[in-house]
Amino acid sequence: MTEQELITSVIRPEIRALTAYKVADASGFIKLDAMENPYTWPEEIKVEWLKALHDAEINRYPDPEAKSLCRILKEYNQIPADSDLLLGNGSDEIIQLLLMALPANSTVMAPEPSFVMYKQIAQCLGLNYQGVPLLADNFELDLDATLATIKKQQPEIIFLAYPNNPTGNLFDNEAIEQIIQQSKGLVIIDEAYAPFTDFSFIQQLKKYTNLLVMRTVSKLGLAGLRLGFIAGNPAIIRELNKVRLPYNINILTQVSVEFALKHPEMFAEQTNTICTERARMFLQLSVIKEVTPCPSAANFILFRTPTDSATEIFQRLKEQGILIKNLAPQKGLLNDCLRVTIGKPEENNAFIKALKTALQAC
Ligand SMILES: *Cc1c(COP(=O)(O)O)cnc(C)c1O
Repeated sequence: MTEQELITSVIRPEIRALTAYKVADASGFIKLDAMENPYTWPEEIKVEWLKALHDAEINRYPDPEAKSLCRILKEYNQIPADSDLLLGNGSDEIIQLLLMALPANSTVMAPEPSFVMYKQIAQCLGLNYQGVPLLADNFELDLDATLATIKKQQPEIIFLAYPNNPTGNLFDNEAIEQIIQQSKGLVIIDEAYAPFTDFSFIQQLKKYTNLLVMRTVSKLGLAGLRLGFIAGNPAIIRELNKVRLPYNINILTQVSVEFALKHPEMFAEQTNTICTERARMFLQLSVIKEVTPCPSAANFILFRTPTDSATEIFQRLKEQGILIKNLAPQKGLLNDCLRVTIGKPEENNAFIKALKTALQAC
């Protein structure tokens, strides 16, 4: 048997057709590609954190329900008392859990462009994926097309990133409410960028049984710990919990996130600084005539570049030591788009300077 025959016989065709999620090697670069918080912790907080870790019993399995962490997450995120939480190894894992629970041949719907993992995981699991294009001029939901698709395909699950990645905008919330009301399946509002906006659907959880709100600590500043959660109707959370592996949140993550969230003022200060920088960067990009930034409620800015030059500009930034995200390979509405994560002021300045140089050379 050849290697190819072996692969064909043991790997499903939909998986063979996929390409793995690629992450660029960032060593040596100013890293503005992955929506990370650029700030670490003051030394005295690190010392306290290590004390908390010192007492973690790593010879024991972690609390399978992470009860203590759940309490703190509910409080920190103002989750209604009658909603329950499911935790995941990053919200990526929660997307996977949700989709693994669906009946065979289910349909997964999301606007496009949006977070690529919705489609990637749906395809990996052999589900039907249905993208609905956003409006080209402002990346807003095409409500008529969305409602028509809901009516026709009755998707079991709809993902709406709020704010959306990679566009950064908050979709119209009345449009979202209509989608929730007209959907017979679950609607997941993915609030990965909640730390950078005051808008949220968390308080709507009381109103709709088919609504779930997903969040993560990654963009807040704890991407390395891998913790996401989804909040909603306890009866639905109970079912999803059956799909979850018992010890998916390791003890170091449980202890560390619990510790971190006892310092809300530290995160508030960091995210405030990032939001101030976002406004400054937006202005700086607005005055560069070759590019057009899109308004953002997240910790990144998507900007349009001259026709068919995004990849070249991306490369020229790299040559100057700046790594951002090139969205041109995703084609469609993103063909002329680059996305930059908001970093520290000096990193942002270096980016703007390098961008001007890159544009001159084009
Ligand atoms: C970054 C991101 C996630 C993934 O978060 P993790 O918790 O790090 O897995 C989920 N949804 C959106 C929209 C994101 O941008």
